[in-house]
Amino acid sequence: MLHSKRQFLKGCGALLAGASVYGITQSPLAEHSDTSSEADIKYAMVHDENACIGCNACVEACREVNQVPEGVTRVKIERRGPFGEYPNQSYRFSRVSCQHCEAAPCVRVCPTGAAYIDKDTGIVAVHEERCVGCQYCIAACPYQVRFINPETRTADKCDFCQQTQLKQGLQPACVLACPTKALTFGNLKDADSALVHLLKSKPTYRAKVDLGTRPKLFHIQTIDGEIML
Ligand code: SF4
Ligand code: SF4
Ligand code: SF4
Repeated sequence: MLHSKRQFLKGCGALLAGASVYGITQSPLAEHSDTSSEADIKYAMVHDENACIGCNACVEACREVNQVPEGVTRVKIERRGPFGEYPNQSYRFSRVSCQHCEAAPCVRVCPTGAAYIDKDTGIVAVHEERCVGCQYCIAACPYQVRFINPETRTADKCDFCQQTQLKQGLQPACVLACPTKALTFGNLKDADSALVHLLKSKPTYRAKVDLGTRPKLFHIQTIDGEIML
């Protein structure tokens, strides 16, 4: 059942005003924040930091396709460096975006069920019409990748292009835009997918796995690089 903003605010205003995010173990209206889905699809992404040149084509493609306003973004490329001695210097680039956690803190704390995990795909997304903009999810996300969209006034973040590219049977915009093929998107449950082949062939790391969030954004670290978690 959908809960309108008006219904929610009327009934739970006091709770919103006084509750601490971390005081809520699971909001009563929250969808299941931890899925062991029986579905055939569990989407994930790999960012190859060796291939990434930091051009930000992914960021711009995401903005255009998903109509992300200036001043906020669903994906960032963090640059570190330079490393080495001139003229043999190099930079390292890391993708920062939603990890599509299998045990998602943002979903657990959402008081309206707006933040949810799509049981058919494992994508963590937002029901815009249910979101009251309370920002609990933003505070709860350990990866700091959620934001309030200044135009919709609701929580926003990477949804693997669920509402845009995937609906048309296309790969995510950032994946298609990357000139060096640094991004691979696919189904973790498809043993024949390029994603699974890549994960089997290269060592990867994921951020903050110690938190138990089971992130589905994998990184192939730079050959000479350090891992920044
Ligand atoms: S990275 Fe943050 S926004 Fe994405 S699923 Fe995990 S907790 Fe939620
Ligand atoms: S801001 Fe986040 S926690 Fe609050 S209603 Fe919207 S999605 Fe849920
Ligand atoms: S998968 Fe889609 S929503 Fe996510 S960063 Fe890439 S383009 Fe943006």
